[in-house]
Amino acid sequence: MPEPTATSSSPPPVLVVGGAGYIGAHCCRLLAASGFRPVVYDNLTTGHADFVRWGPLIEGDIRDRAAAARALRDSGAEAVIHFAASAEVGESMIDPHKYYDNNVAGTLSLLGAMRDEGVNTIVFSSTCSLYGNAGGAPISEATPPAPVNPYGRTKWMIEQILSDFSQAHGFSAIALRYFNACGADLDGRIGEWHEPETHLIPRAMLALLGHVSDFTIFGNDYDTPDGTAIRDYIHVDDLARAHLSALRRLRGGHKGGAFNLGTGHGYSVRQVVEAIEAETGRRLPGITGPRRPGDPAVLIADAALARAELGFSPECSDLNTIIRTAWRWHLRHHGDIGGN
Ligand code: UDP
Repeated sequence: MPEPTATSSSPPPVLVVGGAGYIGAHCCRLLAASGFRPVVYDNLTTGHADFVRWGPLIEGDIRDRAAAARALRDSGAEAVIHFAASAEVGESMIDPHKYYDNNVAGTLSLLGAMRDEGVNTIVFSSTCSLYGNAGGAPISEATPPAPVNPYGRTKWMIEQILSDFSQAHGFSAIALRYFNACGADLDGRIGEWHEPETHLIPRAMLALLGHVSDFTIFGNDYDTPDGTAIRDYIHVDDLARAHLSALRRLRGGHKGGAFNLGTGHGYSVRQVVEAIEAETGRRLPGITGPRRPGDPAVLIADAALARAELGFSPECSDLNTIIRTAWRWHLRHHGDIGGN
């Protein structure tokens, strides 16, 4: 089946659920530039209305099936890209109910709304967290999921639900398993903005700008060359491109599946810290604390499947571009109130 052609007079509407968040907003920007009409559906608990700049915002919760169905109907959406989720590993350990409710029950409700409205194409935001402690080698999709925290478990459950819906209800679904999302759009208008912020690169930058006083490297006793944990950092614009490819593939008749998104190259926490210091010309305090519970030593993607089937090829995920764009965003958005 050929992919329907987008024309300037009728850009196909796509409901971007959670589109007011970090990755969702970057995706909306790319969708709008690529001939689609992103309509954001978001409850704004962690998203930002200010990030909704490339199409309308419908405020609503995924757990409200009737409201989600109305949003699908009113927008005329023929596909959904689903980012809405609670996404903090640590919080999921102490408040699992929130995660099963928002992520699993919420997605089930959204899928019900899609069935109500006859929309069966979905790109879903998944995570490498579902692999758990998979060892140090690059992880391919052949690695059996074995999540070690409620957050990862919710994402794995949703992937299984999507697979069942594909079998039973003819859904076309692609799950994208991100490794470490980072960076900001190249012109600095949108970027990583979580409250509270828990991620390495933004926390280090907030410390340099004077907004965080307790920046710590979590663990220097891992079995890695410098003792700090290794992650595969992937620029948010490369993630956005992967969503666009996934959407296009599904519209073109792709059968769906799950795909890793990473570069295949890992950096240690210390290497990231040093790169931030080199880019900014500032020094971080260099405090090392205990490991953060639940953090594996090494997570690196084998993204060969995404390359082969989605044409995925990172364009801006070199560490310099990641850090340069993130720094520009943090400087502009948070401002320098006197850090290191
Ligand atoms: N990390 C750190 N200090 C921080 C935040 C994170 O040392 O303030 C480490 C964390 O333990 C992990 C890596 O940086 O090894 C990446 O963590 P992040 O929270 O950015 O992403 P995650 O890998 O947990 O998805």
